[in-house]
Amino acid sequence: MKETFYEYVQKRGISRKDFLKFCTAITAMMGLDASLTPKVVEALETKERIPVIYKHFQECTGCSESFIRTAHPVVADLILDMISLDYHDTLMAAAGHQAREAAHMTKEKYKGGYILACEGSIPLADGGIHSMVDGKTQLELFREYEKDCMAIIAYGSCAAFGNVQAAHPNPTQATPIYKLTNKPVINVPGCPPIAEVMAGVITHILTFGIPELDIRKRPKVFYRHRIHDNCQRRPFFDAGMFVESFDDEGAKLGWCLYKMGCKGPVTYNSCANMKWNEGTCWPVESGNPCLGCSEDNFWDFGPMFTTLAQVPGTNIIYNPDKVGAAVVGAAAAGVAVHAAATVVVEKMKKDKDTTTSVADQQNKGVSK
Ligand code: SF4
Ligand code: SF4
Repeated sequence: MKETFYEYVQKRGISRKDFLKFCTAITAMMGLDASLTPKVVEALETKERIPVIYKHFQECTGCSESFIRTAHPVVADLILDMISLDYHDTLMAAAGHQAREAAHMTKEKYKGGYILACEGSIPLADGGIHSMVDGKTQLELFREYEKDCMAIIAYGSCAAFGNVQAAHPNPTQATPIYKLTNKPVINVPGCPPIAEVMAGVITHILTFGIPELDIRKRPKVFYRHRIHDNCQRRPFFDAGMFVESFDDEGAKLGWCLYKMGCKGPVTYNSCANMKWNEGTCWPVESGNPCLGCSEDNFWDFGPMFTTLAQVPGTNIIYNPDKVGAAVVGAAAAGVAVHAAATVVVEKMKKDKDTTTSVADQQNKGVSK
C-alpha cells in the first residue's frame, strides 16, 4: 500500500503550515472555490499517492517539456511528492531494462489502480511499423499498460485527437487514444497543453476523482472557457477594430486578430485566463492569432493565418467587413454545444446592429 501525500511530505520535514499553503495553491490551480480547500486537505491527508505510468507514442515530447515548466505547484512537488511517477519514458534517472522493470512492477502491483498518462497518437498503418520501440509497435506497448490501468490521461492534442500526424492525408493512420480503449479517457489537448492544466488534472483525480468532461472528453473545469470570451482584445473585436497585417498600426495598438486568422471564437481552452510562462503571457496577448490547437483536427481547418471563413457545423460565409455580425452566429453555434458564455452571446445579439456599423466605420478608418 502506498503512503498518503501528507505522510510523504511529513517524512521530508515539510511543516503543517507549508502543507496547508500547498493545498490552497492547488485548489486555486484546479479552478475551484477557496471554500473547497478543506476537502483538498482531507484528500491529500488520507488518500494514497496515485501511481502513474507515463508513456510516449508518436509525438514530439513538447507536452512533457510543458509539464516540467509547471509553476504552481513546482513540478518537483507535483511529480515527486503528490503522485508516484513510477515510469516516464524521458523523465527518469533509470534507463533501459531498469526503467522497463519499474513500469512492469507498478503494473503488476497496482492492477486496476494506476493512471496511464499518454503523450502522442498511435500509428496503425502497415501493422504499426511506423513507430516501434524494442521491436514492439506502439499499439502493442499501449495495450501492455492499458489493460490494467484505472484511467487514461491523454496529454496533448496528439494523444487526444491525432494532431499533426493525423493531418490529411494521415499517412501513418495516426489514431487518438480514446478510439483504442474502453477505459475512461480524459483528454487534455493543446499543442502543448498548459503546464498548470496538466498538473491540475492529476490533482483533480487524486482529490475528487475524474473531473466532469465535455463532449470531447476534456475536463470542463479547464476547457469550459471560449478563448474569445476571455480575450483582452475582445473590446476591439466588439468595436470592429481589426489588425489587417502583422506590422500595421492596429497590431501595435493590440487590436483584434480575427482577420489574421484567429480561431479564438471557436476554441475552448484556459489560455486567456490561466496564461503561460507562470501566468505572464499567451499567444494572442503576444500578437499571434489563436490557432485553435485544443480543438479536433485543427491542422485541417485551413491555412492558419487566413480569416476563419466558415465555421464547422454552419454554412456561414463571413464578410470580414461585417465580422461583428457574422461571428455572432458562429459563437452561438459553439456556445450551444458547450452551454457557456450565454450572457455574452445574448449581449452580442442585442448589440449586433451597432457593432456592425462601428466595425464598418473603424475599418474605413484603418484602410485610410
Ligand atoms: S501535442 Fe504538440 S507539443 Fe504535444 S507531443 Fe503533440 S506535437 Fe508535441
Ligand atoms: S477573434 Fe481572437 S483576438 Fe479577436 S477577440 Fe476573439 S480571441 Fe481575441
